[in-house]
Amino acid sequence: PTQDRVFNFAAGPATLPENVLRKAESELYNWRGAGMSVMEMSHRGKEFMSIIQKAESDLRKLLDISDDYAVLFLQGGATTQFASIPLNICKPQDPVDYIVTGSWGDKAFKEATKYCKPKVIWSGKSDKYTGIPDFNALDQNSDSRYLHICANETIHGVEFKDYPTPAALLVADMSSNFCSKPVDVSKFGIIYAGAQKNVGPSGVTIVIVRKDLIGDAQEITPVMLDYKIHADNNSLYNTPPCYGIYMCGLVFEDLLAQGGLVEVEKKNIKKAQILYDAIDESNGFYRSPVEKSVRSLMNVPFTLEKAELEAEFVKEAAKEKMIQLKGHRSVGGMRASIYNAMPLAGVEKLVAFMKDFQARHG
Ligand code: PLP
Repeated sequence: PTQDRVFNFAAGPATLPENVLRKAESELYNWRGAGMSVMEMSHRGKEFMSIIQKAESDLRKLLDISDDYAVLFLQGGATTQFASIPLNICKPQDPVDYIVTGSWGDKAFKEATKYCKPKVIWSGKSDKYTGIPDFNALDQNSDSRYLHICANETIHGVEFKDYPTPAALLVADMSSNFCSKPVDVSKFGIIYAGAQKNVGPSGVTIVIVRKDLIGDAQEITPVMLDYKIHADNNSLYNTPPCYGIYMCGLVFEDLLAQGGLVEVEKKNIKKAQILYDAIDESNGFYRSPVEKSVRSLMNVPFTLEKAELEAEFVKEAAKEKMIQLKGHRSVGGMRASIYNAMPLAGVEKLVAFMKDFQARHG
């Protein structure tokens, strides 16, 4: 029963919209008269074809993706894309630039060193990843094949609000803010995202890639990483993550029904605002380390002035059915992930709890 559900602030896999889960439940055993679950269908049958095609066309509507781009539903997580990107669009000697605003950008950079010649042109590490560079001061290599950014750093809570102009192509990891707000896809060569934060269960990785970049992969590229193979086969070269794609499709329908990403962004701004306000107005009891102008709407890390209270905070919150508030093991503190599917009521409950906790322990 839905009244038993918790408010789940996990960074991913993360909470999904309740109405999407209910819809999936209602067609779990018999998908729309097919007499079987989506999990049991042939990925080449007409039923699943209709599911994947609808998912793609709804995603195209949501992000206003033009025909110049292919939309791929892949496996392997965003982590696999750290390798796929250089393998598909670089030669081994090609220089490429990385802006590193957190741990994920750093991982992407390190993986790329195996397949091309990446350079970190800006790193926020010395400031503990709390900011975004001044775009005018970026020293991009004019021969760089692409400029890679992580649009939202899930662990550090740093989000690009605007994008740098690349020397050639802009490539973005949008795993943790995918479909949380409108994005001008035409500014990017490649956008990629694991589904398990904003748009579905883990197991699906979405890649939006400009079609003219497809078809020139390095010779060593495994078939499973080659965009051309997947684009030519409409993401059905091998058995895709069928059920995950179906769930993503239900989420896309739900986002469209909410009025699309302009409306979704308004809700996300409101949720983030009340949480950051609670932190900023706590007289230092809670602190957000991130520079105000680039604070993430999705992942809100914060610390307690009295660090010794952090375990108690997590424990008491869990008792009140608010779970997964512990910060990433690499940075400590707290983190509240408030993706699209986190209701306003969840954030309001967290803020009320934070005030009460401060009153009792401040
Ligand atoms: N990039 C970002 C921004 C992430 O948050 C994550 C996972 O949390 C990843 C990449 C890695 O994604 P996956 O676990 O799907 O490989």
